[in-house]
Amino acid sequence: VFLGHFAVAFAAKKVAPQTSLATMFVAVNLADILFPVFLLLGVESMRLVPGFTAINPFDLYHMPWSHSLLMDLVWALLFAGLYFARRRYATGALLAGMGVLSHWLLDWLTHRPDMALYPGGAKYGLALWMSAGGTIALETMMFALGLALYRSATRARDRAGSIGLYALAAFLYALYIASIFGPPPPGITTLAVSMVILTGILLAWTAGLDRHREAR
Ligand SMILES: [Zn+2]
Repeated sequence: VFLGHFAVAFAAKKVAPQTSLATMFVAVNLADILFPVFLLLGVESMRLVPGFTAINPFDLYHMPWSHSLLMDLVWALLFAGLYFARRRYATGALLAGMGVLSHWLLDWLTHRPDMALYPGGAKYGLALWMSAGGTIALETMMFALGLALYRSATRARDRAGSIGLYALAAFLYALYIASIFGPPPPGITTLAVSMVILTGILLAWTAGLDRHREAR
């Protein structure tokens, strides 16, 4: 899942308008922000197997710390706790925590059975990724809905706030399509490093965009 996670981050604005889009971006993607770091540290592992799913060649056989339900619950509590300590905004903290957990649910829906309940525990996955059409249809619908909710919850302060939103949406969608139909990554290290760089870019972009929009 890629767009589906962003859909959740955008939609959260409707419920917690004071929480920055950047905060929710980190929440919904926290598992995928930790994963490349754990890959580079050698704590988690994956391999590229052509045709492993219809969407990507990712055999995600060992990601107990970033993608098990128990650990995601721990990350969710930590993230929500830190957010509450800083902002004292209970709705935002709750949404951020739920955002972290939503990652596991969406990944469970799409991945082949590689989503563990706890490190070393049984793994589950409904494998929507085996259907490219089904995955793209679901994520596109979720993304459109999330964007519509974000748009209805906020208004642009200036041109950067209006054009910036469309530019971000277009960038994310183009990246999504390219990741499915483009060439596979040449290796795990390249994949992990590009995930870290992309996280930095999207963090700056979502934070910047959110400052150019305000709650309606
Ligand atoms: Zn994930």
